[in-house]
Parts: sequence; C-alpha cells; structure tokens
Amino acid sequence: MAKVLLVLYPDPLTGYPPAYARDSIPVLHGYPDGQTLPTPSSIDFTPGHLIGCVSGELGLRTFLEAAGHQLVVTSDKEGPDSVFDRELPDADVVISQPFWPAYLTADRIAKAPRLKLAITAGIGSDHVDLDAAIQRGITVAEETYSNSISVAEHTVMQILALVRNFVASHRWVEQGGWNIADCAQRAYDLEGMDVGIIAAGRIGLAVLRRLAPFSVNLHYTKTHRLDRAVERELNLTYHPDTASLARNVDVVSIHAPLHPQTYRLFDAAMLASMRRGAYIVNTARAEIVDRDAIVAALTDGHLAGYAGDVWYPQPPPTDHPWRSMPHNAMTPHVSGTTLSAQARYGAGTREILEAWLSGKPIRQEYLIVDGGHLAGVGATSYTVDGTTSPGSGH
Ligand code: NDP
Repeated sequence: MAKVLLVLYPDPLTGYPPAYARDSIPVLHGYPDGQTLPTPSSIDFTPGHLIGCVSGELGLRTFLEAAGHQLVVTSDKEGPDSVFDRELPDADVVISQPFWPAYLTADRIAKAPRLKLAITAGIGSDHVDLDAAIQRGITVAEETYSNSISVAEHTVMQILALVRNFVASHRWVEQGGWNIADCAQRAYDLEGMDVGIIAAGRIGLAVLRRLAPFSVNLHYTKTHRLDRAVERELNLTYHPDTASLARNVDVVSIHAPLHPQTYRLFDAAMLASMRRGAYIVNTARAEIVDRDAIVAALTDGHLAGYAGDVWYPQPPPTDHPWRSMPHNAMTPHVSGTTLSAQARYGAGTREILEAWLSGKPIRQEYLIVDGGHLAGVGATSYTVDGTTSPGSGH
C-alpha cells in the first residue's frame, strides 16, 4: 500500500467550502491539438468546485483510502519541522502544485528513500530537482494541457491591463476619483503594436491565436519552428532566438519552461536591448527573469510595465519588491488554478495515480522524467545539466 503526500495551498480565509459564484463549468470535449481530456475511471468531486486547497484534497481521499492507501494532505511545506519534511521520509508519492510548490530539492529527495513518483498537479515541474529525480529513478509527471488555456486567457488579460493602464485607472475609481488625465497619461491601444511570444508551445500558441484578432504584429521564438502553415495563418514573424525577438517588439510574453537554458534569460543586458516603453508579461516562471533588473528597468522608465503571476520563491515574502514596484499588474500564481482548470488537473492527477498504482503506463504526454531520463513532454521541453536546483538560490 502506498503513502501519498499531497501539498496544496491553504483554504480560503472566508472558510471552506466557498459560496460559489456559478453553478457549473462548461463541458469541454478535448484540447486544441486533439489531445484527450483526462480519463480517470471516475472522479469524487464536482467539476467547478474548489479542490486545489487543503480541504478540497484534489478529490482523492475516497479513491485512495478505498484502495487501502494512505493520504496525507498539508499546506505546511517550509523548513525542517514542516509537515511536508516530517511526512516525506516514508512517502511513496508526492503531489504538489506550482501555485504552492513543495520544492523537491536534491536534499529532500535524498531523505525520501521510498519516493518513486512526483506528480505536479498542473503544469511545470521545475520545483522538482529533475537531475536528482533522474539519478534516483523517480518518475515525474504532470497534466499536460490541463491549464494551458487558463494561462493563455490570463496572459491576454495582463497584456491589456498593462497597455491600457487598467490597474491605476481602477484604483482611481475605488478612491472616489474621476481622474481621466491621470488614467489616460499611460493608456494606449494594443492595436498596431509588435507583440512577441517567447516559446510558442501549448500556452504560447494559444496566446498568439487569441491575440491575432487584435490587429497586432505577432512575433515568436521557439526551439523548433512552428509549421509554416500556422505562421501564414497567424501572420507570424519568426525569430531564431530571444535576443532577436526582444529588441523588435513592444510587448514580450514569456511561456518557456524554467530549465538551464531559460534561467535568467531576461537579465539587465536583455532588458536594455528592448525598446524603451516595452512591456513584459511572464506567466511562465519568475526565475526566467532577473528580479532586481526588472525593478530597475521599471523604476528608470525603460520598461513601461511588468505583469505576471509567477514569483520566486512562492509564496514570496511580504517585502518582495515586485509587490510594490511601479507599473506592475501582478497577481498571485493563480492563472492556472481557476476552478475550470482544477477540474482538469484533478482528474488528470487521478488518472496518473490510477495508472501508476495498477502498474500500467502513464500517458507519454504526461511524462517529464521516467526510467532515469527526460521522457515524454519533458524530453522536448526541458534540459538538465546538473546545475539548476530548485530552492538552491538560483
Ligand atoms: P509546452 O511544453 O507546450 O511549451 C513549452 C515550449 O517552450 C515548447 O514549445 C518548447 O519548444 C519551448 N522552449 C523550451 N525551451 C526553450 C528555449 N530555451 N527557447 C525557446 N523556446 C523554448 O508547455 P506549456 O505551454 O504548457 O507551458 C509552458 C510553461 O508555462 C510551463 O513549463 C510552466 O512553467 C508555465 N505554466 C504556468 C502556469 C501558471 O499557472 N502560471 C500554468 C501552466 C504552465 P519546442 O516545442 O520547440 O521544443
């Protein structure tokens, strides 16, 4: 029988369950590229309910306990006395979410001799030390596509929020003002701007498709170039690397996984190469940019705005400079955990568990590491070089 250790974000301050704003979520029939939605044998939660927090338990307790397995759920993940560290040594499976990541460092993996499977409930497994997982033969899996469209929608919202100066304008309303000039002095139309996507994978391509009707000039870069038919359909300008794209656009949106090639890709030199007044939206991973270089570029006016939902570490300290830097439209890491997304990654997590617990293969498209090497989606999206360790200060 397996011990499953599940780390989730805390319940709402207003209590659990919440009063839901809507009674249901739309029923989808597949992902845009034809990949099928998760196919667990059944689910024990109501789609549209909050299952991503501790009391929601990702809807896994009934299923796991009925099969004789042990489930431990906690949000307490920091420091050697945390519930996570205390429960880890005899855990067979760890499940964690990027929104509230249980950083599975090499040190922690060394203290978990039984650990065989690390599941990311969502997408993005950089909080797991992939080198250490490879060396130990631990399988790492995530629910590819489960929240890609969720993030793409959030990205479009944040691009518009920056360019149109939404946050400051909304603040004037809340303060009882009607300060049109104060709002308008930094407000522009997106129409006609050059917008560039770093890594046009599932999310990046979905952002391109959503932005095409805005009559913008779309640019992208990606390890392997998109089909020419897609380039023609969306009128895309391809750039062979990030540097070429960054200096030719007004808006950059980042969608690469965090791995050694993308770590601090946007450093002070890359930012200086961008047009004055450019905007950056980063819903990928915070460490793809240099935290302090972003603050400096906003403060001296080289960047006109920065938005995103990814931070390092997570949760960030109350004095993290991105909470108070000028012209930001930051949110907590929430884009990929809408109630709509939770239903998909909750079902996907159960699908992975059902497969693994019964000795059946996990879908290729869900695999990041398997059998001692990068596998599935992980083999095309990630690199490992033994130097990047989550939580190591990178
Ligand atoms: P995909 O695997 O579909 O896309 C990633 C793309 O990145 C691939 O197309 C890959 O190119 C490209 N890529 C990788 N390295 C580079 C590089 N060095 N330069 C240029 N392109 C590169 O992943 P998703 O679109 O689903 O997700 C992307 C990332 O978004 C995740 O890894 C995660 O970190 C983040 N994310 C954030 C969420 C949130 O809530 N904010 C939720 C979900 C994901 P190629 O295909 O050519 O190999």
